[in-house]
Amino acid sequence: MASVKIAPFEATPIEAIPSTVNLCQTTFRSQKTKPISYRLVQLRKLYWGIVDYSDALVEACKLDLGKPVFETFLSEIDWCKNDIMFVTKNLEKWMKDESAPDIPLTNSLLNPRIRKEPLGTVLVIGAYNFPVQLSLGPLIGAISAGCTGVLKPSEVSPNAAMVLKKIVEEYLDPSAYAVVNGAIPETTALLNEKWDKIFYTGNSQVGTIIAKKAAETLTPVCLELGGRNPAIVTKNADPRLAARRLVWGKLHNAGQVCISQNYIMVEKEILPAFIEQLKIALKEFYPGGQKASPDYARIVNNRHFHRIKKMVDDSRGKILIGGEMDESDNFIEITVVQVDDINDSMIVDESFGPLMPLLAVDNVDEAIRIANTVHSTPLGLYPFGTTTETNKSAFLTPIIK
Ligand code: NAD
Repeated sequence: MASVKIAPFEATPIEAIPSTVNLCQTTFRSQKTKPISYRLVQLRKLYWGIVDYSDALVEACKLDLGKPVFETFLSEIDWCKNDIMFVTKNLEKWMKDESAPDIPLTNSLLNPRIRKEPLGTVLVIGAYNFPVQLSLGPLIGAISAGCTGVLKPSEVSPNAAMVLKKIVEEYLDPSAYAVVNGAIPETTALLNEKWDKIFYTGNSQVGTIIAKKAAETLTPVCLELGGRNPAIVTKNADPRLAARRLVWGKLHNAGQVCISQNYIMVEKEILPAFIEQLKIALKEFYPGGQKASPDYARIVNNRHFHRIKKMVDDSRGKILIGGEMDESDNFIEITVVQVDDINDSMIVDESFGPLMPLLAVDNVDEAIRIANTVHSTPLGLYPFGTTTETNKSAFLTPIIK
């Protein structure tokens, strides 16, 4: 593995952005990136770039998020390597023309085909919580599709952003792929360019800015936003299983995961047993406590530390487990709070941190009603109960209407 010292974060000069984008567009129009052989070479080079810079990525994620080594391999490095393996195995099949199904007789006489054409030059804007995966994942898609592109990693994870720049610049075709580092001014400059697709991951306020800007030029967007995801634990659930899985889901990356549950609704009969199992699971997962463990991440920065702390401070609920915080280290212990109001600060916002509000409910129908009120299109839903209850929860919106 290459040993690197991670360079201090440096924003790309704004005046360099138009020519960088222009080069990617010119290369796309030359059709250089279209053949499968070109795409596979780029993907394989990226794979080895990730391998060669694994130590640097581990170090960067540690510096940016206190990310445990195991988690960096699981959800950043190996995740991306696995993506590349999957894509390279399937690309030839995916690139083939397909016959168009279910065509009316009149059109079928034209023998229509579905042809997979590369879109053009894409902009990928990454988020801080999985700084490698959320940046390289969409870039892998762009390369596979025969597109050229510019990656703008999140400046909130500055060390990972600098390592990504090094990997892309050293391993990929510089006439087709580039990294622009920076914050709002640089991203705004990028958005002033014409793209063929914009892939953004992050919060919905900024998602709205991106969508409005893209609408001016009718540019297609893919917006990977957040969600207030419910978990439901019914009286028929196995409280031990539910507790272990929900604790694991919330402790990964210290809860800075878009699909982790934001709040847990528990049927009243099973609430005491569930709380007991949460305590047992936490003791088993972190026998020496989370603070001393090398396997527990930190909140990305002081601003997010205070955002999460405020959610706890403003809550009218009762802390049942945890609650320790240390600003000097951006450490927040998993904090289980029993709340009794869906307008509580712990429920109305996405915590994107290690908070576990529990809300007692009378039955599954009440839980589904609340879930629809809080956020009817969450990113994930975690039901624990019988198969019938799970199926009922899985169709949140239709059941309630
Ligand atoms: P962030 O602060 O890293 O911002 C995301 C990107 O937006 C960054 O690259 C940043 O430079 C850019 N940005 C910020 N302000 C901007 C502006 N005014 N104009 C243009 N660009 C701007 O991350 P975040 O937004 O705090 O991310 C957390 C959110 O992302 C959470 O809601 C989380 O659920 C969501 N998320 C979703 C997914 C998913 O796959 N759906 C994955 C991860 C995170």
